[in-house]
Formats: sequence, structure tokens, C-alpha cells
Amino acid sequence: MQLIDIGVNLTHPSFAGQREAVLARAFAAGVCQLLVTGTSLAESQQALELCRQLDADGQRLFSTAGIHPHDASSWASDSARQLKALLAEPEVRAIGECGLDFNRDFSPRPQQEKVLEEQLALAVELQLPVFLHERDADQRLLAILRDYRDRLPAAVVHCFTGEKRALFNYLDFDLHIGITGWVCDERRGTHLHPLLREIPSGRLMLESDSPFLLPRSLRPKPKSGRNEPAFLSEVLREVALHRGESPEALASHSTACARRFFGLPAIAERTDDDARD
Ligand SMILES: [Zn+2]
Repeated sequence: MQLIDIGVNLTHPSFAGQREAVLARAFAAGVCQLLVTGTSLAESQQALELCRQLDADGQRLFSTAGIHPHDASSWASDSARQLKALLAEPEVRAIGECGLDFNRDFSPRPQQEKVLEEQLALAVELQLPVFLHERDADQRLLAILRDYRDRLPAAVVHCFTGEKRALFNYLDFDLHIGITGWVCDERRGTHLHPLLREIPSGRLMLESDSPFLLPRSLRPKPKSGRNEPAFLSEVLREVALHRGESPEALASHSTACARRFFGLPAIAERTDDDARD
């Protein structure tokens, strides 16, 4: 079984000094390729460098480059040029994460919208897929996307946590949906359970969003309390359960979907011999 984790915050300081071990556990757990999320210019640069350091063959680690709505205030006159330079690198497979976060409002909303539009324009120009972040802002996100959607190759709403209305609107816009361990949270994720089977195969991808969002259903619980890509199989298990399909079937179509979305190379299935090495 092969899984692709489309959102890992591998630049996060809590992974410092442990990144090789984290990746080795991910590979052993069937996660064969990972997308390292970029959230600012500096972190997007760092994400690219991690891909080069930790995956010299360029087969397993890829990244995104973009400016998160939390960081929208950092947008400067030179940002588009710098972002474009990063996006020209072969490891960088999507623009983002970018979007709107009206839940925490760390940057003023007009600035979030401006910086999102700058990045959508870049995605159109470079014909790259978009990795979107949205919290409590689906109506505004849809209103902005309306002007760009037909010129964008593809876009995924990562870590979807919204309601049925938002999901159906996103699907109508031909967007992809990223699902995290939020669905394993009995306090705030159960509204997603009946929605999971509404996402067509070919539009659904899985992500750990680690080190955040440790699946609360995971047993045994890791002592660190930190999420990592190896635990993506718990998200797989929970999503498969609510979709009424086998984990193997879900792994197969969500992996094919992610590979197509990000243009990743096919890689050979791990054998038991590899696992013993
Ligand atoms: Zn996000």
C-alpha cells in the first residue's frame, strides 16, 4: 500500500534533528511521497532545501511555496519575484499555502485577500496547482476564486473542516479536498463524517498536517504528543470507515489523485525485503 502525505510542516522546529528518523518511519508506514508545506518566503525556501538535503534522488520529497494568510502582512513589493524564483525549482510542485483565515485573523482581511489574489495570478501565469487554506471564509474564498478558476489548472482546499455548503460549493468549482486527522477528533470533527462519502474519488487527498493535528483516535498515543506523517494511516482508517470502502481502495485512489495533482513520479512499491534493511 502506498500513501502520499500532501501536507507536512517539516520545517517546523519541533522536527529539528529528527527529520531523517521521521521520514524513515513515514516510509516504513507506507507513506512513499510527501509534500513539504511552505507558509512564508523563508519557510518555502527552507522546505525546498529540506527536499534537496533529505531526498537527493528527487523521488520522494517535494514542496510548495507560498505565503499563508497568517503571514499576509509580510507581503512586500519584491515578494512575487522571490516566490516566482522558488516556483521555478523542480522540487516545488504547487503554490501555497495561500488563502483566507477569518478565524484567527492574524493579518487584516483586506491584506489576506490581496495576497491571495497575487498568488492566484502567479498560479495562472505559471500554470501551477494551488494549495489553499480556508478557515471561516468559504464565501469570500469562492467569490475571489470565481475570477480565476477557469484559468487555474487545479486547486486543493487543504485540511477541509467546513460544513456541507462549503464542501458542495468547492466540489462545484472542481476543487480537490484535503482531509486531515481533524476527522479523528470526537470533539470537533464528527460533522465531517457524513460528508466524507460525498467527495468523489479523484478529488480526495490525505494529509497529516504534522506536527499539528495528531489523530485523537490513534492508539497507542505517542509520548511526544506530536503528529508525524507515519500516522497518516490512522487518517486513512477513519476516512475509509466513513466512506464505506476498504483502506486499500482509499489508499489506491487518493494516492493516484495526489500523484496526478502534483505531477509526482511513480515509484516502486516497497517490498518486505526493503522494510528489513
Ligand atoms: Zn493551512
